[in-house]
Amino acid sequence: MSPRPSLALHTKIFIGLFVGLVAGILCNVLLPNDEGVKWVVSNIAYPAGQVFLRLIFMVIIPLIFSALALGVADIGDVRKIGRIGLKTLAFTVVITGVSVFIGMGLVNIVQPGTGIPETDRNGLLATLTNNQAVSGIFTAVKESKSFVQTLLDLIPRNPFADMANALDPNYRGGGLLAIMFLALIFGGALSLCAQERVAILTKTLQGLYDVVMKIIDFAMKLAPYGVAGLMFSTASQMGLAIVLPLMQYILVVVGGLAIQQFVTYGLIVKYAAKRKPIEFFKGIREVMLTAFSTSSSNATLPTSLRVTEQNLNVHPDVSKFVLTVGSTANQNGTALYEGVTVLFLAQFYGIELSLVQQLVVVLMSILAGVGTAGVPGGSLPLVVIVLQAVGIPAEGIGIILGVDRILDMCRTVVNVTGDIALATWVDVSERLPTRR
Ligand code: ASP
Repeated sequence: MSPRPSLALHTKIFIGLFVGLVAGILCNVLLPNDEGVKWVVSNIAYPAGQVFLRLIFMVIIPLIFSALALGVADIGDVRKIGRIGLKTLAFTVVITGVSVFIGMGLVNIVQPGTGIPETDRNGLLATLTNNQAVSGIFTAVKESKSFVQTLLDLIPRNPFADMANALDPNYRGGGLLAIMFLALIFGGALSLCAQERVAILTKTLQGLYDVVMKIIDFAMKLAPYGVAGLMFSTASQMGLAIVLPLMQYILVVVGGLAIQQFVTYGLIVKYAAKRKPIEFFKGIREVMLTAFSTSSSNATLPTSLRVTEQNLNVHPDVSKFVLTVGSTANQNGTALYEGVTVLFLAQFYGIELSLVQQLVVVLMSILAGVGTAGVPGGSLPLVVIVLQAVGIPAEGIGIILGVDRILDMCRTVVNVTGDIALATWVDVSERLPTRR
């Protein structure tokens, strides 16, 4: 008998979501308020979700630090490439910002996470988080800081205090944002040092990043069980009321991505790169398909390079630099998805975000676009980070993880198309002589 091929991880996660969802809804309908179900939630389902989440929490600080510092050090090398680098950097920041605003605008208009009955929501919060954390969330929201103080807290006075307290919802310092700030400055400075003197440090950071990603790989192996547990905890409380918000959430993400893909990029291609959008999209069909099926910007890079040079006649000097840096740093789809997800979960848990906190989400989503690895599910640890930073229970990730793969496929297409749109614009603006 030949061994059965094992299922792909994303299929297993989807099965985990489905099993947790259906079992939870059935328990909610058939055994309302049953003590046995409550026992299963607090002793089996909830801890299963926690094991998975804590494995990710455990490596959040080294992940942020190494990913962002290395990301910036890469872009920082732009000194060597000069203008092209600066254009890439500026475009990345602006266009990622546009993408996040589109997503956040849609999620504020459609409000996919609202309308959950108050009692369900309170029960959910009490089950999913321990009481101390819940009260922490609400105090943190109530006592939201002034804008000036939030800005000042971005610069860590004592980075170790921020690292130690980053996951504490009651902590009033800069926390994860301050660590991101440090990482950005560190990466920038690293790129300005004499490279032979800092080569070992860069390699060490790269090694740290690789190890952390391996640990996240281990955690993801447990994701199907964690997701089943988190989903069961939620669905047994909420019953069928959970299905509609989840559907609306998917539609908002896909709708936002479609606007970025066809409207924003269409306009850039037409007015900035002076090309016909239809021809542009036809020319890169193969890239879009590869991105969609692999869910990985990095895996799509060879195809993007070939297609951009051959079908769009972009100068190789431009495409090599822009597409390579872009495959990790310019991830508009991912940034949009982060913003939508965080606001959706805030609505879902009934947590009102102040304007300053919404700005924090925008900023962190943009940074998440820079810091995310171009691999399947690369942005998931960063969702946990952004949730944590604005005081939303990270357990909410259990609600969206099961449907993540399809969203990942779609956002990867947007990520990669953004890089190519950028390359065509830089190419035209540089008017390099060998362009055919
Ligand atoms: N899969 C995405 C990419 O490779 C990253 C993510 O959003 O998870 O571009």
